[in-house]
Amino acid sequence: MSGRPPAPSPLPIAVVDNHTHLDIARDDGPAPDLAAAIAQATAVGVDRMVQIGCDLPSARFTARVVDEHPALLGGVSLHPNEAPRLADRGELAAAQAEIERLAAHPRIRVIGETGLDYFRTGSEGVAAQQDSFRWHIDLAKRTGKALQIHDRDAHEDVLRILREEGAPDRTVLHCFSGDITMARECADRGYYLSFAGTVTFKNAKGLRNALSVTPLEQVLVETDAPYLTPSPHRGATNAPYLVPFTVRAMAGVLNVDVPRLCTAISDNSERVYGPW
Ligand SMILES: [Zn+2]
Repeated sequence: MSGRPPAPSPLPIAVVDNHTHLDIARDDGPAPDLAAAIAQATAVGVDRMVQIGCDLPSARFTARVVDEHPALLGGVSLHPNEAPRLADRGELAAAQAEIERLAAHPRIRVIGETGLDYFRTGSEGVAAQQDSFRWHIDLAKRTGKALQIHDRDAHEDVLRILREEGAPDRTVLHCFSGDITMARECADRGYYLSFAGTVTFKNAKGLRNALSVTPLEQVLVETDAPYLTPSPHRGATNAPYLVPFTVRAMAGVLNVDVPRLCTAISDNSERVYGPW
């Protein structure tokens, strides 16, 4: 199912969508109109976004649009599913050199998404993924940027490699998907946990339990648009203007009022990425 859900009522205090892909179209549809997507989000209290480019074309796109739209900061990386493909073709070193060059842009504040994806990439790609993850961790530390991690079915190895390498000062688990034990471990290590629309899904009790033990100072929200549309519009095309559904559900889980959660998300985001 695709389609455009109606806008939710605005949040009382503006927040940040800390992980979105504004260049990705779904179902072969057209890519979203960037200015319209930003205006629509701003109208409901989502006035800042972190645009994530995770292959070379989208990283180039990201480095360009952060100059054109003050609402956007950016992240650049080679996705865990992209790095093994580039390695196979002998193109990895050149791609990494370009990511590093794009990362020097002052409005690129994130190295990511990087990490491990054992769901889409089979065992033949694990070594390349892990090497790439370590390279991104090092790049984040060398450039002083935040790190955003993609972790799909790879919790133990993600935590192990972060410990081995030493995590950057500001490390975000994007689209957090761990359980309550992992949430506590990440919080203890000082990482930020970013929750996507998945936390609103009916069958996501484990994820809500994880959120419930996350300190308010380490909570972030995101869309991962165009995917993971929050309930009650699960299955539709996601976009930053749908963040309020996720924020309101999170406030219920955390047992805080919505303005307090919005303030925390806004403050946390600016602590991680710097001012817009
Ligand atoms: Zn993403």
